[in-house]
Amino acid sequence: MKNFRCDNILPVIGKLTKLLLVSICGLLLCVNRGNAQEKTNFIIIFADDLGYGDLSSYGHPTIKTPNLDQMANEGQKWTNFYVGASVCTPSRAALLTGRLPVRSGMTSNKVRVLFPNSVNGLPTEEITLAEQLKTVGYSTACIGKWHLGHKEQYLPTNNGFDYYFGIPYSNDMDNVTEINTMEDYKNFWLKPDNIKIESFNVPLMRNTEIIERPANQNTITKRYAEEAISFIKKNKEKPFFLYLAHNLPHVPLFASKEFLGKSDRGLYGDVVEEIDYGIGQIITTLKDEGLAENTIVVFTSDNGPWLSFGVNGGSAGLLKAGKGMTWEGGMREPCIFWSPNKIKPALITELGTTMDLFTTFSKMAGVPIPKDRMIDGLDLSQTLFNEQPSPRENIFYYRGPDLFAVRVGDYKAHFITQGEYGQFGPKEEHSTPLLYNLAVDPSEQFNIAEGHPEILSEISDVVGVHKSKMVKGKDQLVDRE
Ligand code: MG
Repeated sequence: MKNFRCDNILPVIGKLTKLLLVSICGLLLCVNRGNAQEKTNFIIIFADDLGYGDLSSYGHPTIKTPNLDQMANEGQKWTNFYVGASVCTPSRAALLTGRLPVRSGMTSNKVRVLFPNSVNGLPTEEITLAEQLKTVGYSTACIGKWHLGHKEQYLPTNNGFDYYFGIPYSNDMDNVTEINTMEDYKNFWLKPDNIKIESFNVPLMRNTEIIERPANQNTITKRYAEEAISFIKKNKEKPFFLYLAHNLPHVPLFASKEFLGKSDRGLYGDVVEEIDYGIGQIITTLKDEGLAENTIVVFTSDNGPWLSFGVNGGSAGLLKAGKGMTWEGGMREPCIFWSPNKIKPALITELGTTMDLFTTFSKMAGVPIPKDRMIDGLDLSQTLFNEQPSPRENIFYYRGPDLFAVRVGDYKAHFITQGEYGQFGPKEEHSTPLLYNLAVDPSEQFNIAEGHPEILSEISDVVGVHKSKMVKGKDQLVDRE
């Protein structure tokens, strides 16, 4: 002790203090990173007009989708999963708001979707999943087709997304050819020479700026995947929500040169296989960045196949009809949930909808579900993580603002049926609804209404309760310049 000197001890205290400070900073950093890592990242990949039967894992005999098939094997493959509408705009509104589009007014009996001369878009008072997740610090990006209003106030950047890159509506819009009648339209599509990039003067946007017009659609699928990967890498330290909404395989079909002519299914197959390839790259990125086990990836499509286009349209497999209709082929879609160690691998035959993603992901992120409005989404997490039964018992099939059909459990009653695009017949109101048992008759071939008045009566009660609570929003699609 006699050798004790202050000038010896001071550097030691200094070092200890520095060590303590570094430790505290490190601890704080760990807590911060821990918080970020505790919050699950969400990626929703939405195809356009891809049908129930268009993936090899859903029975297509020649389209090869190895990446989606592997996700289905490692995760959950849902076979009774529905969208909120059978056409683009209302289906997208349903996905992002968790509400039937009739509530937000994003559906109409005058026009089915938004067009480049539409005046309105998703009303600002609607709350999107991106806006929900922003409240708890998520980074958010929308890459691809928007179709909820192309004027600045309606773009993704005003709906909770930090970043937007994509074509703001369908890839067949801004057609440069004069098309006034259905006959013109049919003639247009019959000429292969018309199907070129210059025929569709659609803009490609970054945030609120148009950066390319017409968008080079040959490379659009590839560029969407690249943008998605870049967003993931940039935001790997934060929780993120990526909404990747491909413009394809909606017609007109385009693929990059690496995929053209490669699929046994022709051009449609080339397009789907390029989408699948990009998804594989995204999954690889998540694995390489150590994000795979903390990210949920879900893949589905906005509506059924556009059957009017023959081999250039997709397939609903064994389901009846396609895009635009309330038969199963219009609204039931492939749906794959993937997240290693989180999602319990299984084949799920329970009911689910795109609206449920709003509620499930909001709850997982700790964001309260809005109480001031009707939310149609339900929390699927017990099915996803514990393979428990889905809380969903009903599906409401709207066409425009009208309720055409209702599914309760395995049974579906059609009150009104109507074909579209010149197929599947005229509008018909059924005084006795058509009734199908979808568990044994997914193709809706055998009407069993006559022998089952008790089932119709039960469905009628469900409809009564649903209609008594329905408040329809003001039609946002009808006004055009
Ligand atoms: Mg679509």
